[in-house]
Order: sequence, then C-alpha cells, then structure tokens
Amino acid sequence: MGDAGHVEFDLIERIRARVSSRPDVILGIGDDAALLQVPAGHQLVLSTDTLISGVHFPADTTAADIGWKALAVNLSDLAAMGAEPAWISLALTMPEADNDWLDGFLDGFCELAGEHGVALVGGDTTHGPLSITITAHGLVPSGTALRRDGAGFNDDIWVTGTLGDAAGALRQWRGNGLMSAKLRHRLDRPTPRIAAGRALRELANSAIDISDGLLADLGHVLRRSGVGAEIDLGRLPTSRTLAEHFPDDADRWRLQLGVGDDYELCFTAAPANALAIEQAMAECATAATVVGRITREPGLHPRTPEGDDFDPGVGGYEHFSGGPD
Ligand code: ADP
Ligand code: MG
Repeated sequence: MGDAGHVEFDLIERIRARVSSRPDVILGIGDDAALLQVPAGHQLVLSTDTLISGVHFPADTTAADIGWKALAVNLSDLAAMGAEPAWISLALTMPEADNDWLDGFLDGFCELAGEHGVALVGGDTTHGPLSITITAHGLVPSGTALRRDGAGFNDDIWVTGTLGDAAGALRQWRGNGLMSAKLRHRLDRPTPRIAAGRALRELANSAIDISDGLLADLGHVLRRSGVGAEIDLGRLPTSRTLAEHFPDDADRWRLQLGVGDDYELCFTAAPANALAIEQAMAECATAATVVGRITREPGLHPRTPEGDDFDPGVGGYEHFSGGPD
C-alpha cells in the first residue's frame, strides 16, 4: 500500500498489538527484517503456502476461520517434517483496509499460534485481491527431520485422525450448499499434527501431510522412495458423521482418497515399531491407523475389503475454482 503508507502502518500496528513473542526472537515486527536465534545443534525447517480466496477456501469462509486455516496448513507442513514450529511471517494482501476483517483474521490466527507457542515475527501488507502467504519456520535436532524419501519395503502405512470430512463438506458446498456443521468445521479448522510429527521422528521412516488427498500425497512418498503401496480401503479411518452423510462405500472412498484438505499425517514405519507408535500417538491424544503396506513394485493399489482392485477415478486434489462464490 505504498500510496497510503499510514493505512499500511495502522494495519501493521493492529497486527503487532496482538502477537506474542518468545525469547529466541531478538528482533520481531518493526525493523527491516527479523532477527532469530537458532539453537545450537538444530536445523531450520522452512515452508511457505499461499491461500487464495475462492481457490483454497470458499469465499464465504469467516475471517477467523481463514486466519486459523492459513496458519494450520503451514504448521501441518512442519508437522510432516517432525519439526517444532517457532516463527511465522505473514504476507497479507487485502482488497481494502478492513479493520474488522483483520481483527477476525487475527482471532483465528492468534488462537492457533498460541496453542503452539509460535511468534509472528514479520511480513508484508499490500493491497489487492485477498490472499494470504505464510512462511512457517520450525526447528529439528540436526539430522532428525522426517522426509518423503525414506519409505522402505514392508513398512506399514499409517494415517492420523480420520480422512474425508473436509472433502465431504466441499462436496456438500458444491451441491445444494447445505453442509453438515461438523464436516464444515473440519474443512475450516484443520488440526496440524505437531505433537504426532515430533514423536514420529524416532519411529517413522517417511512422512507427508495430506493436503491433496491420500492417493496424491502418498504417491509423492512412493515416487521419492522408489517403492509402491497397497491400501486396504476397509481400514480407512472414517468419522461417524462422514459415514452418515456418505453411506455408499465407493463414493465415500473416493472422497477419502482423492480430494484432500485433511491435513492429517500419512507416515510409514517398520512393523516392529507398531506398538511404540500406538503408545506415542496415545500420549499425544492423536488417533493413528494402519491403512496399508509398502510394496517393492512401484504403483499404488487400493483394495476393497473383499480384496478386489478399486478404481478411485481421481488424480489428486480438487480446488474450489468453478464452484459458487
Ligand atoms: P519495509 O518497507 O522495510 O519492508 P514494511 O513497512 O513492509 O517495511 O514493514 C514494517 C515492519 O512490519 C516489518 O518489520 C515487517 O516485517 C512488518 N510487517 C509488515 N506487514 C506485516 C504483516 N502482515 N504481518 C506481520 N508483520 C508485518
Ligand atoms: Mg515490506
């Protein structure tokens, strides 16, 4: 907003007034750049994601939900690396200097930031169609990050939480607009699995977060690791709400495999670690379920409970474009 410097300044002050700091932030918002202390023996883990109105969230999403989700999707990437989130930068492009919208956005953003003790340390504020770009900075003890390229033959394939709720909400939103509030909540307020990711550093061989659907995201792990997978559809963790709204198995499996926005973790681990994983996940109150197995031969094969091959008929994510505003 170079044409109205004071407006930009007011917005930045509004943001600065809401954020909490941490001891490793030497300089936060207000200088030309942030100055941050990386602890000895740690690596910095960095990830950026952009959310655009009407593409990454329905245009009727509340400001608070946008604030939550913009941060959640970035923290989810850190979770998938096993990183501890630390610092956030926020590039905010707004169609107008709307204080009410910004306050709502900060409500959702600060609620999640507070849960994870992360500090907003800088950013940029500009004028244009609504979009939010967040860079999340996390920390791992050197050499311990979870990666996509570590899946090994015969590993169990696990997922946290349940799959498909956000996809169900999206399907309903595109249909008659009547949405289950529970499903919509899972679309708007995903839970980044930070504690689970951290616990899995010692136990898993590979990990990814599910943003574009289990098939697409597990597919990235398989390609990077040079292996294949079988998925047992009867074991996909499913919320009762999703099963009630989508009782047809094949229809529901397609939602669970192909749409995304779950922000659950998919990870692989040696079967010998299964018990330790169950204990670790219980300690962080995160459900985790084995849904398949890594195979030597490349390719990804979903199987029905009867053992038949299942055609998911989807290639990956569906975004919101083309839907009603
Ligand atoms: P410069 O012109 O030097 O880039 P800016 O006026 O863009 O400075 O920003 C001033 C300060 O406010 C910087 O410390 C910047 O990191 C911070 N800042 C700007 N926008 C945001 C934002 N949306 N969220 C957090 N910090 C911001
Ligand atoms: Mg700037």
